[in-house]
Amino acid sequence: MFEKIPVELPRRLNLAHLPTPLQPLDRISELYSYPYGGPKIWVKRDDLTESGMSGNKLRKLEFVVAEALEQGSDTLITCGGIQSNHCRTTALVGARLGLNVHLLLRGEPVAEADGNLLLDQLAGAEVTFYSPAEFARDIKGLFNSCKDEYRKRGLKAFCIPTGASDGLGLWGYLSASQELISDCLTRGFEPDHIVCATGSGGTQAGLTLGCHLQGFNVQVTGYAVCDDVAYFQAKVKEDIRHWSRLTGNPIDTQSLQVHVNADYIGPGYAKAGPPIYKMIEEVARLEGILLEPIYTGKAFYGLIQELQKGRYKGCDNLVFVHTGGQFALFPYRHNFSFHRV
Ligand SMILES: *Cc1c(COP(=O)(O)O)cnc(C)c1O
Repeated sequence: MFEKIPVELPRRLNLAHLPTPLQPLDRISELYSYPYGGPKIWVKRDDLTESGMSGNKLRKLEFVVAEALEQGSDTLITCGGIQSNHCRTTALVGARLGLNVHLLLRGEPVAEADGNLLLDQLAGAEVTFYSPAEFARDIKGLFNSCKDEYRKRGLKAFCIPTGASDGLGLWGYLSASQELISDCLTRGFEPDHIVCATGSGGTQAGLTLGCHLQGFNVQVTGYAVCDDVAYFQAKVKEDIRHWSRLTGNPIDTQSLQVHVNADYIGPGYAKAGPPIYKMIEEVARLEGILLEPIYTGKAFYGLIQELQKGRYKGCDNLVFVHTGGQFALFPYRHNFSFHRV
């Protein structure tokens, strides 16, 4: 399938319902793309990979947790924000496979768990909260002492990095890129652009490498929800180099183009202004699709702004990868204008 090098897939669990649908956004395209000479917008529905485990993290965890099981682990440790989709997915995957899950969460404990945090607890994951300062100071140390605690109890823990974004998790969107291109070809087109929200870089890294290895001339752009362009260009290349070391396939990351747009982060990670909420509402009403304010809502809002500026003028087809996250809508309910009376 990959044109440039022969690549053998590693061990993989079968948890996601694949392939996910590829669906056109006709009304959004009419309103926000065609008047500006832009492409037809399609959505790759990775919000439909599963129910509770839905979203992009499940594709990565199929490979990462397969490795954890191979190593004889009985416990998964990972980290993220209070509303981390990655943590929620890991909690449910652990439950499904009979593994312990311990989540290191960045933020203060809340009186009433909501959204993803509610599901973490429902799935029986152990949760420890750390202040953003503690988190930033020494996340490696927090992972190590947590792992030690399990070792003392005679258990074997496997640590999964933020967002399962590393050379192993990269397989998730490397294989998704094959699925996506094949969906497009079935529908009779080669995409000009693939767009996704970027938070820890792994989705973008997999898609970027995958399109490169398949020899397609499609530009993958990550719309950042935190950090800056230089950070993600480095992070995406770091994950690709890690993959390259793990698989023994040389990749020239110097010449690899990594496209990042960091103009729509707004007030900061997990903070969004009224235009993002307006966009989420509009997409729900026009297309029946749920975005959320941390990742997909911000990225989609950024994409729509760029379409209106003529950024994608003259292109025929653009695919937005819907990376999921719908449970995070609920804890942010008060920011919707219809909610304020
Ligand atoms: C984690 C996440 C992303 C970002 O993906 P990365 O691979 O971490 O860059 C985008 N959207 C949603 C809903 C997510 O949970």
